[in-house]
Amino acid sequence: MDDSPLSPDEVLAREGDPTARALAAVEWLSANFRKSPDQAKALAERELALARSAGTGSAVAWIQFYIGWIHVDRDQYEAALPALEEARLGFERGAEPAGIARTFNAIGAAYLGLGVYDLALDYFERCSECAEALDRPDMAGAALINTADCLYELERYEEAREVIERAVDYRVFAHNEAVRHHVAGMVYRALGRKAEAESQLLAALKKAGDVDFQSVESIRALAELYLDMGRFDEASALVERGLRVADRENDRLHGAQLRLVRAKADKALGRKDRALADIQAAIATTEAIGSRKGEADAYKALSEELRDAGDFERSLGAILHHQELKDSIRTEQINRRIVGIKEEQARREASLYRERLEQLSILGEIGRKITSSLDLVGIAEAVRSGAARLADAPILLLGTAAKRKLGQFVVVVAGRGPEAAHGGDPGLEAIAARCLLSRKEELEEEAEPEGSALGMPLVVGERLVGALCVRSPRLGAYDKGQLEGLRAVAAYAAIALENHRLFRQVEDLAAIDPLTGLLNRRSLMSCLQEEYKQRRRYGRDVSVVIIDLDRFKTVNDSFGHEAGDLVLIAFAGILRQISRESDRVGRYGGEEFLLLPGTDLEGAAALSERIRIALAEAEIEVPNGRKLSITASFGISAFESRDPGPELALSRADQALYSSKNKGRNCVSVLP
Ligand code: GH3
Ligand code: MG
Ligand code: MG
Repeated sequence: MDDSPLSPDEVLAREGDPTARALAAVEWLSANFRKSPDQAKALAERELALARSAGTGSAVAWIQFYIGWIHVDRDQYEAALPALEEARLGFERGAEPAGIARTFNAIGAAYLGLGVYDLALDYFERCSECAEALDRPDMAGAALINTADCLYELERYEEAREVIERAVDYRVFAHNEAVRHHVAGMVYRALGRKAEAESQLLAALKKAGDVDFQSVESIRALAELYLDMGRFDEASALVERGLRVADRENDRLHGAQLRLVRAKADKALGRKDRALADIQAAIATTEAIGSRKGEADAYKALSEELRDAGDFERSLGAILHHQELKDSIRTEQINRRIVGIKEEQARREASLYRERLEQLSILGEIGRKITSSLDLVGIAEAVRSGAARLADAPILLLGTAAKRKLGQFVVVVAGRGPEAAHGGDPGLEAIAARCLLSRKEELEEEAEPEGSALGMPLVVGERLVGALCVRSPRLGAYDKGQLEGLRAVAAYAAIALENHRLFRQVEDLAAIDPLTGLLNRRSLMSCLQEEYKQRRRYGRDVSVVIIDLDRFKTVNDSFGHEAGDLVLIAFAGILRQISRESDRVGRYGGEEFLLLPGTDLEGAAALSERIRIALAEAEIEVPNGRKLSITASFGISAFESRDPGPELALSRADQALYSSKNKGRNCVSVLP
C-alpha cells in the first residue's frame, strides 16, 4: 500500500456511507501517516468521531493505532500510549490479530522511547509471538529488531547479538532493514567485533540511502567506530557529513553528539582549539534541549579534555557533574519502569471498566429505545444503532417468526435514512431462515467477497419470536466478545418483537367481529374512508354493497338466538368464500353486512347475485338436526367523483336495500 488512490478530500466525499468513509480513512492513513503526519493527524482525529458513531469498530481501532504511531514518531510517547491502548482493546474486541500484533509493536516502541526497556521487551515479545502465529515474517522481523535494540540499551549485548542475528532470516521492509543493520553494528561494536560492526554500519547507511532516509545515528556510530579503530581522517569526514544532515534537519541532539565525536577526532589529529569549542557547544545545546544523556556525555568529554590540559580541579568538577547526571538518569529510568508498569495496569483496568460501563449504559439505552418502539421498522432501527455500538453491524435484518419461517422482516443499513433502509438482503434472509429452523446461531464466513454474517434466533421463554442477523464486510468480525454484546441486544430485540406481536393481536381483536370473524363496524368505517381516498387519488372503482338478512327476527323467535347466531356465522362463511380476498367484508351490525368490492356497479351486482343464490340454496344446520333456509336483500351503490365523502355512497346503497325489501326481498337493487 505505497500509494493510496484516495486523497483526504475523497475520504470526505464518501459522506453518504459512514462505513465506507471510515474504511477509506483507514486506507489513507495506512499509506500516508509517515509521509504527511500533520495531515494524517488532523484527518485521524476528525474521522475517529465519525467512525465511532458509524459503529465500525475495526476502523475506530485502526484510526487510534495510527494516531498512536504519529505520536511515537514525534517522540510524544506519553500521548501515544492511551491511543494505542484503546486501539489494542478495539482489536481484541474485534479479534483482529494483525491489528493486535502491530499495536504491541507500537506500544513497545513507545516504552522504548520512554526508556522503560523491560516493558518494551515484553511488548516486542508479544508482537513477535502474534506475528509468528499469523505467519507474518515482516512483523516478526520488526519485533526482533526492536527487541535487540532494547537489549542493547539494557547492555545485554550477547543476547542482543543472538536476537539481531536471528532477525536476518526475516524479510522486512527496507526501513526496518536499515535499522537492523544499525542495531547489529552497535551490538558488534559493543562486543569489540569491529570489522563486523563496520560492515553492518556501512550496510545501514547504504540501506538508509536506498529508502531516502539519512541515518545520522548510523553516521555517528560509524564515526565513533573509526575513532576506536584509529581511523581519524575517515571519522572526521563522516562527522562533517553527519553535521550537514543534522543541520539540515535541525536535529540539535545529534548535532551536539557529532561535535563530541569531532572533538575526539580533532584531539587525535592535534587540533586542540576546536575540540574545546565543540565540547562547550555540545554542553550548551544539550542543556538547552534538556537532554541529560547528551549533557552527561558532553561533561565526560570536557573532563577528559581538561585532564589532558592539566586542569585537574575543573576536570574533577566535570566528571562529578557527569556522574550526577548519570545517576539521575538511572533513578529516573527505574522510577519510570515502576510507574510504567503501574500505569499500564491502571490504563488497562480503566479501559476495561470504561468499556463495561459503556456497555451497560448502551444496553440500558437500547432496551429503552427498543421496547418503546412498537412498529417493526422502529424496532429494527433501534436494534441496529444499539448493536453497532457493541459490534461490527453495518447491516442488520430483524424479522418475525411465522411457524419457524421468516415472517415480516426489515433490513436496515448504516447511514441510510429509514426510507432507503428497507432494501433486501437475500443472504441475510437465508441465514434468518436457517437459524429459525435450527433455533441456533448461524455464522457464515465468506472469502469472496470478504465478510461475515451472523444469525441469531430470538426466543422469549420457549417461544421462537423471530431472528436477528448482522453482516460485516470483515472476515472474523463476530468473535466471542462481539457475540456477547450481540446476544444482549438480541434479548431486548426478542422482547420488543414479542411486544410487537401482542400489540398486533390486540389491534386485530379490536378490528374484528368476534362472532363471524369478519371486520367489525369500526374497521369497516375506516376501510370505507380508505377506499374513498383510493378512488379519489387513482380513480379506482369501488362499490358499496349492504346486505340485510330477510325476516331474521323470525329465526330468532322460532329457533332461538343460538340458531340465529349459527345462521350469521354460516352467511359470513358464504361471503368469505365468494368475495375476493381484496374485497373488504364485514358485519355492519345485527344481521346487516357490508361488502366493498373493487368493481363497478355491474360487477358488484353480479357478485351480489352469486352470493344471494348461494345463500338461498344453502341449508344451514342448527341444533336439533334442523336445517334452515334463509334469504337476504342487497342494496348497491358506488363512490362517485362528485361525492364529498364516503357516506353518500353508503346512504344510496341503503336506499337501494330499502327498495329490495319493498320489492319482496331476496333480490339485488342498484342505485347509481
Ligand atoms: P327484514 O330485515 O326482512 O325486514 O326483517 P328482519 O326481521 O330481519 O328485521 P329487523 O331488522 O327488524 O330484525 C333484525 C333482528 O336481528 C333483530 C334481532 O333480534 C336480530 N339480531 C340482531 N343481532 C343479532 C345477533 O347477534 N344474533 C342473533 N341471533 N340475532 C340478532
Ligand atoms: Mg335489519
Ligand atoms: Mg333483516
